[in-house]
Amino acid sequence: MIKFLDLKEINAQYESELKAACARVIDSGWYILGSEVTAFEESFAKYCGTEYAIGVANGLDALTLTLRAWKELGKLKDGDGVIVPANTYIASILAITENNLMPVLVEPDEQSYNLSKSNILAAMNDNVKAILPVHLYGRISPMSEIMKIADEFNLLVLEDCAQSHGAELSEKKCGNWGHAGAFSFYPGKNLGALGDAGAITTNDTELAETIIALRNYGSHKKYENIYQGVNSRLDEIQAAMLSVKLKYLDSETEARRLVARKYRTEINSEFISLSGDVSSESEHAYHLFVIETPYRERFEAHLKQYGIQYVIHYPIPPHHQKAYSTLMGDVSLPLTENIHNNILSLPISPVMSEEEVNQVITACNSFRLEE
Ligand SMILES: *Cc1c(COP(=O)(O)O)cnc(C)c1O
Repeated sequence: MIKFLDLKEINAQYESELKAACARVIDSGWYILGSEVTAFEESFAKYCGTEYAIGVANGLDALTLTLRAWKELGKLKDGDGVIVPANTYIASILAITENNLMPVLVEPDEQSYNLSKSNILAAMNDNVKAILPVHLYGRISPMSEIMKIADEFNLLVLEDCAQSHGAELSEKKCGNWGHAGAFSFYPGKNLGALGDAGAITTNDTELAETIIALRNYGSHKKYENIYQGVNSRLDEIQAAMLSVKLKYLDSETEARRLVARKYRTEINSEFISLSGDVSSESEHAYHLFVIETPYRERFEAHLKQYGIQYVIHYPIPPHHQKAYSTLMGDVSLPLTENIHNNILSLPISPVMSEEEVNQVITACNSFRLEE
């Protein structure tokens, strides 16, 4: 059996360091908003090249609290439109609707699965006040074009970096292109904690201060509340785990790119298409390796026969979810719907052996329609 993602093996590589870090927190007697969180925030900001990184409870909160902070600062108001790719994970949309903002669903570029300049411009209207590009599957969106549009139309940009830790364009990392970036450190993400965790990156001091208050009951100073905040703190243990794992993020990403490179050069089935080439490998952190096939059900059966785990990211697009049946039940997004019907994610991880990668390639290349 080839696992889709072997988390146990990934974390086992750092077992002694993780246990030592855990013991350090236990022995410190300080468990919430202490030196571990501050240290991780500093090193993650440095990694991303931003002024600030603010730890929060998870990736959804990182998105939600950033939009909320812009509302508190008077930069967004109820009903404002937020452009977002229609094929994203539901969390990107939930953060918008949670804040009483209006998702403006945009079809993605078919090759990159991300927002494109022309699709954004086609969706633009006077109500749009922000863009939420999602660097889906690990590939950074065309950020320099997106920032040009944002400048021209005076829009805020929040990058959803939950799948793209370390991906960069022109040597500038994701999370440092927009006015803010939201990260998830869910265990299965490229930088994964051993529980839930998230962070916001930004170079905007006012935004950072507002989020720092919002994540902690709306308070800067104990028992003085300036906002009706929430409890969305990153805890000390998870921050300590993340500080260990951040040191290995780049080498893990390189290992993922190696797997992807092999898939790209060696998968050659006429029934399977791989998404578009990247101009530079550094654009893609390969959180997922997604293929498309119009024969998905048959391909799934074939992979099962070969003992290869796969996942579909995602089987139902947000506009077809019951949760959004009132808001977007009659929206038609043929491109997005087609993507959701044809995609499938092959195993990819920093701990896959060459032998395992070869087995996946063999399975792909032996796929026939008549079996
Ligand atoms: C995982 C993910 C999130 C949410 O992160 P959580 O930490 O699970 O809340 C948001 N957006 C995208 C694109 C994701 O993949």
